Amino acid sequence: MNDAPITSIKGIGPRRAELLGKLGLFSLSDVLRFAPRDYMDYSSQGYVAQAVHGENAIFRISVQTQPHLVRVRRGLTIITAQAQDDTGQISLVWYNQPYRKDALHTGDVVYAAGRVDVKRGRKLINPTLYKELPGILPIYPLTSGLSQTQLREVAHAALFVCGVQEESLPDTLINRYGLCKLDTAIRELHFPHNIEAMRAAHRRLAFEDALIFKLMTGLMRNELREKDGITFEMLNIKEEFLKKLPFAATGAQQRAMDELAADMQRPVAMNRLLQGDVGSGKTAVAMFAMYGAVKNGYQAVLMAPTEILAEQHYGSLRRMFGENVLLLTGGMKKDERAETCKLIRAGAVSVVVGTHALICDCVEFNRLGLVIADEQHRFGVRQRAALAAKGAAADVLIMSATPIPRTLALMLYGDLDVSVLNELPPGRKPVVTRYVPSDRRDSMYAFIDERTATGKQAYVVCPLVEKSNALADVISAAEVYKELANKLRARVGLLHGQMSASQKNEAISAFRDGKTDVLVCTTVIEVGVDVPNASVMVIEGAERFGLAQLHQLRGRVGRGSEKSYCFLLSETDGVLAMRRLDALTKTQDGFALAQQDLIMRGPGEFLGQRQHGISEFSAMQLADDMNVLEQAAAAADLILCEKSPNTQEDALIARARQCLKRTCVDVAPN
Ligand code: ADP
Ligand code: MG
Repeated sequence: MNDAPITSIKGIGPRRAELLGKLGLFSLSDVLRFAPRDYMDYSSQGYVAQAVHGENAIFRISVQTQPHLVRVRRGLTIITAQAQDDTGQISLVWYNQPYRKDALHTGDVVYAAGRVDVKRGRKLINPTLYKELPGILPIYPLTSGLSQTQLREVAHAALFVCGVQEESLPDTLINRYGLCKLDTAIRELHFPHNIEAMRAAHRRLAFEDALIFKLMTGLMRNELREKDGITFEMLNIKEEFLKKLPFAATGAQQRAMDELAADMQRPVAMNRLLQGDVGSGKTAVAMFAMYGAVKNGYQAVLMAPTEILAEQHYGSLRRMFGENVLLLTGGMKKDERAETCKLIRAGAVSVVVGTHALICDCVEFNRLGLVIADEQHRFGVRQRAALAAKGAAADVLIMSATPIPRTLALMLYGDLDVSVLNELPPGRKPVVTRYVPSDRRDSMYAFIDERTATGKQAYVVCPLVEKSNALADVISAAEVYKELANKLRARVGLLHGQMSASQKNEAISAFRDGKTDVLVCTTVIEVGVDVPNASVMVIEGAERFGLAQLHQLRGRVGRGSEKSYCFLLSETDGVLAMRRLDALTKTQDGFALAQQDLIMRGPGEFLGQRQHGISEFSAMQLADDMNVLEQAAAAADLILCEKSPNTQEDALIARARQCLKRTCVDVAPN
């Protein structure tokens, strides 16, 4: 039943199914495991008199005046009505919903739920109306054309059609870790009876995903162990390399280089994570390892998460290795790509840099000795495995700017050694970070115009407006672009993920060469773009980003000698969001921020980024503390050590093996 397509739900036709498909929902079981991103607690009634600005609440109100149209201009209609509960008055307001006018009448008593606005002492609400208290409602990630109500209906229907869920974990684990049953977990995931039950459901589902994930990395690690590594000769390599570097390496960079050299000299394959805050200079360390591999007559490959970043690395590598470097990206022309692959296979080139395109079966190396994945969090585990498999015994280095705590790193990567760059190159100045309330927007623009007039540059980053909907993302950036192109004196450029590779390149080059002053972009610039002359970073919809991600974005500025600024704009004044933005204004320390995020939001955000494009482990994000992940990891280790696993354990291992096998090249690069 669970495998039945989503169209087997009554009322879901091809059009609706297509929209649901954008959210990754194809079968009924996809729906069952589709995690809400949040919940609205409408299980108890609030009182108007006690409501404060920005609070989300539900009131039992009686309607005092007939809804009427107050103001219309092109494209905007507003319907309002006065209402009250036993404690106070509140205005009901709807935008562009003219039908509301006749849907409600004086004297009606209903529940009105929404965010309360207080304007000059008057309370307003743009409510959803209910006949009864709706309880705790799920809020799902959306895509345009679908509403929360529709998704809730789909979830209801799927739960109903599928009936009782068969348990997928052994009883021993359920008992040992005090987990709830799968059936309960799935029901409470969508329509929790109370917050406790919702937490228990999250914990159970996170446990299961983490268990399978950890089994998967465990299986992978066991395979790696069986391989002998290459014994690189690294004597004097560091000295030679440092002479070629255009700057003096920091102490931290040198330490990391020593650690890498020691690994590379050993006859076991290296498996190391290089962690360093944005701007700490991870690229130079990576280049050192590549330099060592090349000197030993091996090929080295560097995989970047975006084409822009791959291009940028290509530039730096050319300066170091000259002609001995090739670039391979998905955006290249077919014959150009074929030619590149031929040269790689023939061993005519030692250093290769590229994007996900490198994973493709058509890319074969001649003598691959070193694999480096930059900004690893954009890659799934399987991409890494697939790339490493191209070199029989290649050393592997993963670089990450997200400073995750060691326990989480172990959980995610399995048995990795960790090097840390805990020092920034000299001369970096802290980035002045401010929250900009919406009434200060124009003065911020004036500030940008002033700065760009003197040759400085600015980024304006727009968020992914809706998860899984690349188009909405583009629209938001395009709109901001239009507005700024009009409003600012500065020359404005646009860069987003839906542009072609050459368009993207053009936009970033124009910005790099100073032909545009302001670059309006989506998070395509999140990772690694390096334009030292940019000294202002504006982040629109900042509440939609995680702290670690905001910190990464901020790291795009403050690289030159200029004083740099980061402005955070946000449509929400939600408590959590404000607390996070506040944390960002107060510290520049990425590690401290990551710790804080871990405490405030649980490990979900890190997992979310890391699982980018791999939806099957999305429930791991539901973990609200490290505990459950650690328990799952321990359970997985036990299962893997088991000499004679029972049938249920065997089934779990088989499931992990299945996951490992599934191909991974279909992950959309951005
Ligand atoms: P990240 O760790 O974020 O990948 P990068 O490797 O891109 O950082 O380095 C950021 C910038 O700092 C680059 O412009 C790089 O050339 C420069 N840089 C790196 N190491 C040093 C150093 N030791 N001294 C001065 N500049 C450095
Ligand atoms: Mg980098």
